[in-house]
Amino acid sequence: MATTLSMGSVFNNATYTAIADVMLPHTQNTYWHEFYEISKTQLQLNYFERLWEAWYAYMNNDTLATGILSFVMHELVYFGRSLPWIIIDCMPSMNKYKIQDAKVPSAKEQWNCAKLVLLQHFTVELPQIWLFHPLAHYCGMKISAPFPPLWKMAFQIALFFVLEDAWHYWQHRFLHWGPMYKYVHKIHHQYSAPFGMAAEYASPIEVAFLGLGTVGVPIVWCALTGDLHVFTMYMWIVLRLFQAIDAHSGYDFPISMRHWFPWWGGADFHDKHHEKFIGNYSSSFRWWDYICDTENSPEAVKRRREKRIAALRKVQ
Ligand SMILES: [Zn+2]
Ligand SMILES: [Zn+2]
Repeated sequence: MATTLSMGSVFNNATYTAIADVMLPHTQNTYWHEFYEISKTQLQLNYFERLWEAWYAYMNNDTLATGILSFVMHELVYFGRSLPWIIIDCMPSMNKYKIQDAKVPSAKEQWNCAKLVLLQHFTVELPQIWLFHPLAHYCGMKISAPFPPLWKMAFQIALFFVLEDAWHYWQHRFLHWGPMYKYVHKIHHQYSAPFGMAAEYASPIEVAFLGLGTVGVPIVWCALTGDLHVFTMYMWIVLRLFQAIDAHSGYDFPISMRHWFPWWGGADFHDKHHEKFIGNYSSSFRWWDYICDTENSPEAVKRRREKRIAALRKVQ
């Protein structure tokens, strides 16, 4: 009896934990173990915030944690969002919604595009994604949970959409200037009838250049206001990827966003840019092209013709 008691006092909880650490290191040092520990102590966090905190605690290296999360998220969203469009391309019944209906991309074209995009992601975008965390940290971007309130995220993301669109409009016009088009932007225009996956089919210079609008705008915002969470940044990138892939999809459905928000560009708007190589330079909205008279639509062409005729009449 005395021996049993002394054994019990020797093998207390701490000893069992130490033995488990040596014998079964993975049971202690796992992501779900961190999640369990955080769930026990940080009761104010919701399920997703606990998942988030557990990831950073498990990695124990914020740069690595943000780098891996950003890269994996980018790949999953990019190819995950492109997949429904690949399936739609294989469905003849969907052809009536195709903007340039005679130009459905072949499997070979899609595969060639995927190869270049993947190469681009691993060689050009990966180092840039890796640099994001130190830069975000330097600008005071928040990392730890809780996440910001929904209204704040919605406001900041809406603002990023508007500002990125302005950046994109002027940079895209610059990319259509002779030498820039010839040496940089021409690659993106290889497909005159685009498809979802072709959104990031572009020269590395162009990716860095236009990507500055997507990544640089929130960073400048954070440097000026000191109020931005990395999670808001992720949500913004996800929505921006959806916007870019959908704009290249080549399909315009009766339920497409432009039908209930007339200032939204969408596939109808960007497809015309790829088909005609001129006009419709913005990414998300139509207002910059409208203000600067670079819209490419039957109504805009008609409007310009009427203006010219009116000017000629005045001269006579
Ligand atoms: Zn262009
Ligand atoms: Zn494009």
